[in-house]
Amino acid sequence: ATPTALMAGTGKAAENGILFRDGKAIQTMKDLDIVVLDKTGTITQGDHSVTDVVVRPGGPNATDGGVSPDGGSAAADPADEAVIDERELIRLAASAERGSEHPIGEASIEYAEEEGIELSEPEEFESVPGKGIKANVDGRAVSVGNVRFFEDELGVELPPGIDDQLHELEQEGKTTVIVGLEDEPAGLVSTADTIKEGSVEAIAELHERDVETWMITGDNERTAHAIAEQVDIDPDRVMASVLPQDKIDKVSELQDEGNKVGMVGDGINDAPALKQANVGVAIGTGTDIAIQSSDVSLVRGSLDALVDAFTLSEKIFQKIK
Ligand code: ADP
Ligand code: MG
Repeated sequence: ATPTALMAGTGKAAENGILFRDGKAIQTMKDLDIVVLDKTGTITQGDHSVTDVVVRPGGPNATDGGVSPDGGSAAADPADEAVIDERELIRLAASAERGSEHPIGEASIEYAEEEGIELSEPEEFESVPGKGIKANVDGRAVSVGNVRFFEDELGVELPPGIDDQLHELEQEGKTTVIVGLEDEPAGLVSTADTIKEGSVEAIAELHERDVETWMITGDNERTAHAIAEQVDIDPDRVMASVLPQDKIDKVSELQDEGNKVGMVGDGINDAPALKQANVGVAIGTGTDIAIQSSDVSLVRGSLDALVDAFTLSEKIFQKIK
């Protein structure tokens, strides 16, 4: 391609919200064999909302080990008083999540606010990326996270029973976390996220171009597969429960098999993998670090811009092949 064609091409792309870092990024784009797509915030909107709050029957009760719940959320029936209710479960979880910026935490807080539940200020907040969070709320140790968080970080073995319900919710494509009180599982909170407009069509277009699509996520297998099915990503190409620091290795593995790999993501977690990819694509107004680590930035935040970027790459470079 002549420098003029490149300039004209990138200028036109920029008007459409597709920002290429340099000519090499445009050139490489058309040669990609695989595009790895982050799930949350890339394929989906990343805008979670709470769908289910489940109290574990026979779980820890509301009053042991700490201050009793505020008047508003205590159960009216004395017979129920021993067991924590849904309102109190979400109040504790959402209060603990006040220290977090994770979409799951934000969804819990939003839900509690909508329900008119007053939250407490968490103390000693701790977060383990890709796993969960822990804090002290009203003198009680509250933990919120996935199975890995409870088993690996807290050393808690999950009681039977809770599994079935967890799996059922995950199968519906809902991201589900466990809420623990004093490290004992007390219930579950599910959140759901919606597929972004344009994702299904863009993935179909990539397949039409013989580009393989893969999904990568820190979320669990079942939720990831449910979402993959909705956007027609092959179940064998779903990489779930991937820790933030391991996303980069997954991209390298695909490259080691001889593939040119593009990676699309929006989060801090995605930045190293974006750098590693042959073409790193930041999507949306996402995190600055993701944008800085990328070769292409899709300002519009929809995957249809990714298809436009492919088309442009082919148009500009086909003549010199
Ligand atoms: P992704 O961005 O790919 O969805 P993350 O690595 O951010 O994944 O998180 C992976 C998983 O870790 C979540 O699905 C959840 O189970 C758990 N997790 C992470 N942060 C939190 C949090 N603040 N509260 C509860 N669970 C969390
Ligand atoms: Mg993301």
